[in-house]
Amino acid sequence: MIRAFFVAGAFAAGLLGGVSALAQSSADLINDHRTPGDVLTYGMGYNQQRYSPLAHINRGNVKRLVPVWTFATGNALGDESQPLLHGGVMYFTTSRSTFAIDAATGKGLWRHDIEYDPDTLRTICCGQVNRGAAILDGKLFRTTLDMHVIALDVKTGKEVWKTQSDDYKLGYSMTVAPLVANGVVIAGVAGAEFGVRGYLEGYDPESGKKLWRLWTVPAPGEPGSDTWPKNDAWKVGGGSTWLTGSYDPELDLVYWGTGNPGPWNPTVRAGDNLYTSSVLAIRPKTGQVAWHYQFTPNDPIDFDGNNEMILADLKQGGQTRRVLMHADRNGFLYVIDRTNGRLLAANAFVDKMTWASGVDLKTGRPILSQTTKDYLAGNEVELWPAVSGGKNWQPAAYNPETGLLYANTLEGGWLVAPAPIEHKPRAIFFGVKVAKRLWSDDRGILKAIDPMTGKAKWRVPRAVPSYSGVLTTAGKLVFSGAMTGEFTAYDAETGAKLWEFQTQSGIIGQPVTWERDGKQYVTVASGIGGVYHIHGGDARLRNVPTGGAVWTFALFD
Ligand code: CA
Ligand code: CA
Repeated sequence: MIRAFFVAGAFAAGLLGGVSALAQSSADLINDHRTPGDVLTYGMGYNQQRYSPLAHINRGNVKRLVPVWTFATGNALGDESQPLLHGGVMYFTTSRSTFAIDAATGKGLWRHDIEYDPDTLRTICCGQVNRGAAILDGKLFRTTLDMHVIALDVKTGKEVWKTQSDDYKLGYSMTVAPLVANGVVIAGVAGAEFGVRGYLEGYDPESGKKLWRLWTVPAPGEPGSDTWPKNDAWKVGGGSTWLTGSYDPELDLVYWGTGNPGPWNPTVRAGDNLYTSSVLAIRPKTGQVAWHYQFTPNDPIDFDGNNEMILADLKQGGQTRRVLMHADRNGFLYVIDRTNGRLLAANAFVDKMTWASGVDLKTGRPILSQTTKDYLAGNEVELWPAVSGGKNWQPAAYNPETGLLYANTLEGGWLVAPAPIEHKPRAIFFGVKVAKRLWSDDRGILKAIDPMTGKAKWRVPRAVPSYSGVLTTAGKLVFSGAMTGEFTAYDAETGAKLWEFQTQSGIIGQPVTWERDGKQYVTVASGIGGVYHIHGGDARLRNVPTGGAVWTFALFD
């Protein structure tokens, strides 16, 4: 009875208050990081800090955290999605479904399903996953593996519009959570492993009409085209855009990372290969680029530049700087002035790095090691980090109170040499010969990192690396999950483990926290899958059950 009343009540409130309870305005999105009663954006705010001002749950009482509901997603392919929450309703996506869930009880309200022609799934490199939705004015926006962006009515789950982005047969796919910025729905593509030419697109939230497309690899004659060989390399030049960008509404700039150049073999595409493995600062209304910074010119081994861009105001030499922080797969943590793209700091955050000895702050370019030079000359070398990077897609969190960045880092390398490669439609486009995959004993480490130095204040080593997102709170807590299923709370200042709960599968999801009627909740999806589960060959995960569920926790009282 209470459940039914709650759901009806939430919708009635929407009608009584105009459309305010159901319609999310652009102002709501701008304020998202300050309003703990809802979660409206990927990253829990346009700044993607994954920080909550909530402190009801804190270091003193987190041991009383208990589950209040679970919701089975029926998805055995990996639950990487970040939930959204509005008006007492949680929205959760998998690659095949979108769910609306009563946030108080965990009861399903509606679901929307997508069916795929099996042919569309041939060029999904790293897991049939989806990373979440975006929301604006009563509509929920999401992407599909077969290259569509769709809008659903938040009340009913009915499709409002569906727009094809491009042809999946070219190697494209979509797993990204869209970003709504300045009234435009922005979505990117995956596919640099199959020789696509990357792009980012903006859509009209009302109609689904395409407003702009920004190619990340220039055609001959366009700016940056002189950084490519004078042949057709640009046509399959990569630069995918598979992770969600962040947004500074005051500067009206979206910060979006681009993926590796194609093929992985760098010796066949001499030059910097702009605008791959870079961050682009983009005007959301038009898709115009205000500035760019390239993390890895002529990316040697699929470092990508897609990892999240976390925005914060940092004090440096008595000045407050509006920065962007980015822990790249290449092992460097970059701090960039987000008003103009100037590099302020770039330091290694991994324990072992052999590909570069540092980053020249004047030129912004990596200082290549002899190892990398030998590799570029065609030799087999031991490169650290390897393809999975110093950190993969799993988003870090930044706590403005501790000033620390909390990230699930990776410690892996490989013995690798360039190899001949020719582009074939819908075929893997690598061109490297891997002799051996290498890992440290602890393949992953949860690190609390000083952004300006890259040094860890504390570290929690993990034999099996974590591909879970991280969440931090004003309660001085850090939450993250493990692929063996544990969901854990740590002291944000010391890294001490304060609480842990064993979920039913492995966690590769993105925890969020929120508040309703004065009570704080923590939600995370558990459901193993994704790139490491598929390609990591880690026998320790053999007995982890597949099958996803969304878990919500609160203090027992
Ligand atoms: Ca909010
Ligand atoms: Ca890639």
